[in-house]
Amino acid sequence: MVIHLHEDTIAAVSTPAGEGGIGIVRLSGCSAVKIAREIFILPKGKGLVKFKSRVLNYGYIIDGKKKIDEVLLAVMKAPGTYTREDIVEINCHGGITALRKVLELTLKHGARPAEPGEFTKRAFLKGRLDLSQAEAVLDIIEAKTEAGLRVSLNQLEGELSREVKFARKSIMEICADMEASMDFPEEDITPKTKKAWISGVKDSRRRLEKLLSTYHDGAILKEGIVAVICGRPNVGKSSLLNVLLRKNKAIVTHLPGTTRDPIEEMASIKGIPMRLVDTAGIRKEKGIIEKEGIKRSHLYLRRADLILCVLDGSERLKKEDREILGKIRPANTITVINKCDLKIRLNTKDITKMVKARDVVRVSCLTKIGIDKLEDRIYNKVWSGKVHTSNEAMVNNIRHKAAIEDAVRQLSQAEDSIEKELSLEFPASDLKESASSLGGITGEEYAEDLLNIIFSKFCIGK
Ligand code: GDP
Repeated sequence: MVIHLHEDTIAAVSTPAGEGGIGIVRLSGCSAVKIAREIFILPKGKGLVKFKSRVLNYGYIIDGKKKIDEVLLAVMKAPGTYTREDIVEINCHGGITALRKVLELTLKHGARPAEPGEFTKRAFLKGRLDLSQAEAVLDIIEAKTEAGLRVSLNQLEGELSREVKFARKSIMEICADMEASMDFPEEDITPKTKKAWISGVKDSRRRLEKLLSTYHDGAILKEGIVAVICGRPNVGKSSLLNVLLRKNKAIVTHLPGTTRDPIEEMASIKGIPMRLVDTAGIRKEKGIIEKEGIKRSHLYLRRADLILCVLDGSERLKKEDREILGKIRPANTITVINKCDLKIRLNTKDITKMVKARDVVRVSCLTKIGIDKLEDRIYNKVWSGKVHTSNEAMVNNIRHKAAIEDAVRQLSQAEDSIEKELSLEFPASDLKESASSLGGITGEEYAEDLLNIIFSKFCIGK
């Protein structure tokens, strides 16, 4: 991404590509209003001289004398806007041709095409959002479930930033105190001062460690888990996949840009985003030879976070069932005895010898009996029995996690150096580095290439 130092005006189509009821062209920058004046007229042909902020104006977009589209146009005056700049939004008819024409016209009148995420980048550079909040905007766009969305909304509201900023400020205060002492080396550091420093550093470290402990859950809520459905042919794997999908549609079924296997489906089971993989689907996939299918099924089983191993309750345990049960790790497996609407011929004792009894659930994909209970089991298995709330500050981003881990490591080093009464330069330098790691999360300290990496993940127009 190029850095634009001068205040130019950017424009983009902010709605998704394709047909739609309406489509929005968005402009941001100091010439946005001027451009709007040049290309917009009221129904009776007059231009609109004075735009009231945040009011929709009905009229036409014109190219010279030619009408391009019938639109609703809104001007939002700086600084109370997303980018803290003047913003103009033009609600056009949804077709791609009209949108493209309006966009081209804005460019002809002096705007330049926005780069991916540039509106949000401007919001960050103008101090409207900090960096972790800007990243939350992306997560909100990509949220797969309501629970994941809630975590990202919390982050956007600044929950994570508040925690991180608090720790950073405390660390910097101790550091400043140390540096002041360094200016008077002839004065001894009293045991009281030493104790206060250690306790201050410990406090911050504990706060950050608590935050780190939320990463496991935060990452699950954001990225989801891979759940693989396995079992011999005809036990009801595809039926189970369909029952779970029909009941638990995820907010997003497919993310642009992600390479998802065609046999993976996204579901939201009790708020947990789940990529469900049906191993029958792998073997049935067109053009795939049986041996390759089996190999891929095994690969999936190995990388599964959760395995749903399906057995046919209406039949006795077969050699093939035993083989499959023998291959999976019981710790991450729920054994699903299907077809419980039929007469049960399966000997449950045989199974509980191989897997934990409490992870066996009886269901019928035909009548849906037991499906609720299966979902409860899945939920408990993923969250290890604890009730999950996502209202607190949570870390769900690997970049933030790495930065907090660095900060914690540097704080431990500082603690150690103070304990050992090393020269104050050592702990002070560790504390500075720790504050700097934390500053990278909120963007109080950042490198331009980091901004480029973050904002290039956004779509154009956001
Ligand atoms: P897969 O090969 O393991 O994917 O199995 P399918 O989902 O294709 O199901 C195999 C057969 O079992 C189909 O005829 C389904 O209609 C049937 N089936 C699946 N679940 C149930 C169930 O709960 N009860 C009964 N009676 N039949 C089921």
